[in-house]
Amino acid sequence: MTELASINHASTQHVRPSLVGQSRTGLQDLLKDIGIPERQLRMRSSQIWRWVYGHGIRDFDLMENVPKDLRAELSQHFTLDRPEIVTGQKSSDGTRKWLLRVPSNGVARSSEIETVYIPEENRGTLCISSQIGCTLSCTFCHTGTQRLVRNLTPGEIAGQIMLARDELGDWPGAEAAQKENLPDSERKITNIVLMGMGEPLYNFDAVRDAMAIANDNEGLSHSRRRITLSTSGVVPEISRWGEEAGTMLAISLHAVRDDLRDELVPINRKFPIAELLEACRNYPGVSNARRITFEYVMLKGINDSASDARELVRLLKGIPAKINLIPFNPWPGTDYECSDWDQIEKFSDIVNRAGYASPVRTPRGRDIMAACGQLKSASERLSVKERTAAK
Ligand code: SAH
Ligand code: SF4
Repeated sequence: MTELASINHASTQHVRPSLVGQSRTGLQDLLKDIGIPERQLRMRSSQIWRWVYGHGIRDFDLMENVPKDLRAELSQHFTLDRPEIVTGQKSSDGTRKWLLRVPSNGVARSSEIETVYIPEENRGTLCISSQIGCTLSCTFCHTGTQRLVRNLTPGEIAGQIMLARDELGDWPGAEAAQKENLPDSERKITNIVLMGMGEPLYNFDAVRDAMAIANDNEGLSHSRRRITLSTSGVVPEISRWGEEAGTMLAISLHAVRDDLRDELVPINRKFPIAELLEACRNYPGVSNARRITFEYVMLKGINDSASDARELVRLLKGIPAKINLIPFNPWPGTDYECSDWDQIEKFSDIVNRAGYASPVRTPRGRDIMAACGQLKSASERLSVKERTAAK
């Protein structure tokens, strides 16, 4: 584990808003507000859009086709800031994790989120957060032990992609500062997953607007088919997400019986398994080429029996599905344990025999607490330490 950066800026409130996170119309409105004539608005906003999101520039002076006086005007009113990096860590397996500070809403002292990058041979996956903390409290999830501080803004969500691209040298013509453990692919971030902190469907509008920027051909240019939203099962929002954002979908299923799922994923008490699966069957665009991923965390002695596996196969019948078995990632203070390896294999054999490719997701970045479900802000951890020290 190496420290990439450890910057401790005094928390300065930016008076100038960042253009990062603005939609196309939002950008036009801002330009109008600073006095750009109506007839130039479309052209100027589209030029600026490409610089901000297509090239990822961080200095207005690099906007070559924008007149000098307008560049000066822009930098007087706006910034191109991304969320501030507090620390960057790199795991022995190449996984990177950035702890980011975002302005507090005044209620809480901790306003930090985490973004994780997982390189593989020919792909790189960026795992981004949608909220600070989470209102839900899935019993096996570390984030679930932290209360919700607030929703992230579109700028803070899209900004996570942008700062990762800064760090990885993943803009056209740019180069990474640290080239080891990067994939062979032309782009270093090939996939985006909304699987960091938070329940993305409880921050619907901001996540949708950020994904529109991620998806824009003249913007960040990530295909919808390579963006996956993971939800614990906010049933009423699932079809709306399909219609308005149209990304791939992952469902945190984790149990095949309502009594157990009520306990592990408490939102199940509101939206039980049958309703959740019905929403999946009706997900816009679902097909064999666009399957829904079902995530299933392997908890020893809890949900990992052969009969659970058979029930899983039965439940998913008729839904174009992929199954992701996730070994449980322990965190300090949890009572759960990860299933034994031979149990995971037995489970996955049953699922495989039913025709599902069910890759067992190898945990990555465990040494830097970057694995699924381990994300929780450092200041929250610190406050626990402080509390212990005060005893
Ligand atoms: N809130 C969303 C997305 C974030 S969690 C959701 O719940 O889907 C991303 C995935 O990690 C979910 O499938 C979640 O259930 C899983 N997860 C949470 N804690 C975990 C842990 N300790 N070990 C393994 N997976 C975990
Ligand atoms: Fe929230 Fe997802 Fe963790 Fe559940 S698993 S507490 S929904 S982040």
